[in-house]
Amino acid sequence: MLLVGEPILGEGEKKALADVVSSGWITMGQKVRDLETAFAQCHGAEDAVAVSSCTAAMHLIMMALDIGPGDEVLVPSLSFVATANSVVYAGATPVFVDISSLAEPVISLSNAEMKCTSRTKAVVLMHFAGYLCDRQAWRDFAKRKGLFLIEDAAHAVAIDGVGQYGDAAAFSFYGNKNMTTGEGGAVVAPDPALLERVRQMRGHGMTSGTFQRLHSRSPCYDVTMLGFNYRMDELRAAVGLVQLGQVKAWNEKRKALTEVYRGVIDALCPLVTVPFTSRWASSYHILPIVLPATIDRQRLVEHMRDAGIQTTIHYPPIHMLSFYRRQAPSLRLPFTEDFAYRELTLPLHPRMDECDVDRVVTALEAGLQECWRSSRVAFRHDGAKLSENFRA
Ligand SMILES: *Cc1c(COP(=O)(O)O)cnc(C)c1O
Repeated sequence: MLLVGEPILGEGEKKALADVVSSGWITMGQKVRDLETAFAQCHGAEDAVAVSSCTAAMHLIMMALDIGPGDEVLVPSLSFVATANSVVYAGATPVFVDISSLAEPVISLSNAEMKCTSRTKAVVLMHFAGYLCDRQAWRDFAKRKGLFLIEDAAHAVAIDGVGQYGDAAAFSFYGNKNMTTGEGGAVVAPDPALLERVRQMRGHGMTSGTFQRLHSRSPCYDVTMLGFNYRMDELRAAVGLVQLGQVKAWNEKRKALTEVYRGVIDALCPLVTVPFTSRWASSYHILPIVLPATIDRQRLVEHMRDAGIQTTIHYPPIHMLSFYRRQAPSLRLPFTEDFAYRELTLPLHPRMDECDVDRVVTALEAGLQECWRSSRVAFRHDGAKLSENFRA
């Protein structure tokens, strides 16, 4: 089975893990610190804080910025549920914003503007599929409205400009991301004071950790704020350091594969579109395509599976998930819903080569033909079908 994404793990990671085990120190220590330094450097930042996940990173950013009950945070609905959950964890309210268009499926500035109220405190950008949001436009917007600007950069690791949009950025090292530690994440923030708050909140708000106490003469600590256990450990950090050394080369490979995809899809499946353009800055996290509205996507997914190719969907919109739907049953986001209804994610990872891309698009072409041949009735695109689709 050709998978949508695959981590690349090898001898380097094995050795790094073995070295940590031999060292006898496996909880947060020097390796975590080394990963933070290297990760910051990779993003042109002064410093970074490594944490247990991107979700934890987002939660800590909300808490460190003092976002809480009564506050509203603008978030794209076209994202992983963690983007909204982190706002809810902080006691604030996520306000879902539509995407710009099917061709530019990132949070829409004009829709964000419409959803701004006196309670709006922050806006979260998510660089969908790794394609970067418009930095200057969002900086101007945040400044004009007096909002914190936060990046959910889970898709956009190791690319110029990311982490430098506004107040803070959250990264993910989950297994399907461009670099991985299994579970893990990081925060980058230009303001050292904010980053220090994040660092302290990562470990229960304690003024020192186990490692620092070992290396200082004072066994005491204080707790000066509410914190969490969102620490990373040495095993993960060691793997992360090896991955970080390769992620830029992997991103280049993803870029090359994406270029091939764009060309072959244009040639073989002219009714299928690939969002964004090849000039758009990206870390090429995934390869999303938009299917013609009349295609029975589920049938196509099965065809691809029979051909040995995994496909997935990014994403069921957050506002359509039962938990969030209950809170705003009448909310409609037309572009997001249309995109999510027609989107299909094709395999993209650095282990693939051009032949794999050919194989995927050839199967896609055949699948589309089959869907068209067998569809007697036009596939109606309406709300009922949509939610049925996401429940399935
Ligand atoms: C993966 C992902 C997350 C969550 O990352 P974790 O490290 O698993 O917490 C958040 N947002 C987006 C857009 C993601 O893709």
